Amino acid sequence: MFNNLFGKVSSKDIGIDLGTTNTLLYVHDKGIVVNEPSVVAINNRNDQIVAVGKEAEAMLGKTPAHITATRPLVNGVVSDFEVTEKMLKHFISKIQHDSFSMLSRPRVVVAIPLGVTEVERKAVEDAAKNAGAREVILVEEPMAAAIGARLPIQESTGSMIIDIGGGTTEIAVISLGGVVNWRSLRTAGDDFNQDIVNYCRDNFNLLIGEPTAEEVKIILGSAAPLDEELVMKVKGRDLITGLPKELEINSQHIRVAMERVINAILESILSTIESTPPELLVDIYERGIVLSGGGALLPKLDQRIAAHVNIPVRVVDDPLTTVARGTGIILDDLDNLRAVVSPGVIPLN
Ligand code: ADP
Ligand code: MG
Repeated sequence: MFNNLFGKVSSKDIGIDLGTTNTLLYVHDKGIVVNEPSVVAINNRNDQIVAVGKEAEAMLGKTPAHITATRPLVNGVVSDFEVTEKMLKHFISKIQHDSFSMLSRPRVVVAIPLGVTEVERKAVEDAAKNAGAREVILVEEPMAAAIGARLPIQESTGSMIIDIGGGTTEIAVISLGGVVNWRSLRTAGDDFNQDIVNYCRDNFNLLIGEPTAEEVKIILGSAAPLDEELVMKVKGRDLITGLPKELEINSQHIRVAMERVINAILESILSTIESTPPELLVDIYERGIVLSGGGALLPKLDQRIAAHVNIPVRVVDDPLTTVARGTGIILDDLDNLRAVVSPGVIPLN
């Protein structure tokens, strides 16, 4: 309790990766305690939560009229404020069993995308406060990812991190504790899925749902030719007959479907590099680019990026938890790292 009064780390403080696809909570001494899809199912009749996380995700596209299962974040930003707040409250209450007094309310570090507006920042801050936070500290997602990846962000050397999530691709060059150059693309894993749906519709007259597209992407997806190309059976609706149909689809098809988004990501990385000061570029060339986020798991994406920009690329260990681990490291070392947390909206140079 006294620790809280003096602003030191409390065991109740929480690091939050509020992602478009997945929300993770990190607690000091315990590590990652929540790792669930950012989905909430609500009963429209009484506005009560029916399910949150994995259970709610399983309901997507299958709910009766009185239940709505939604993702409250779109492209990294809060699109449904009330549902985001309900989701955070649910997750925080899972780990806070005794939050009666103000003093036991947690301080939280929340990762937000680069380039969000003041209104969007405020939405995250208010949602976390209403969900029970005493103090909300915002940190840019790639900064949290770089800290989670243990890059030397406070040194005068340039580090480059690319976080590819469900709704955003964040590209950042970091030096001396600040973001020097960056791009934030509102395209990532979700758009891969949408393009796979469109590809199957346009080429095979096969209508598939988003969860099927996600499964196809995980099993067949790649950013460059595989040593052994893969095949799987995909079920959906035949658009000509309206009846169920099963087709064999291979990894070459899916690579074609994913090319549009891969190219958008490659072009953004190239443009970030082209506008990075030469001294930092040399550091990045020597140290390599680091990939995080679920999109980093796409086979051969690292090689494809490396070939495109002539810089070595490596995928961080456990890319789906890098940002959450970064928020945890910030909480544990807040005195030292306070300077790196979000200073406000950073202008794009
Ligand atoms: P966010 O930060 O937006 O919540 P995450 O970093 O949790 O996103 O990553 C989720 C995204 O990563 C989803 O679009 C998911 O489909 C994608 N993903 C997860 N695993 C893989 C994989 N093995 N191959 C390709 N994409 C993947
Ligand atoms: Mg993320």
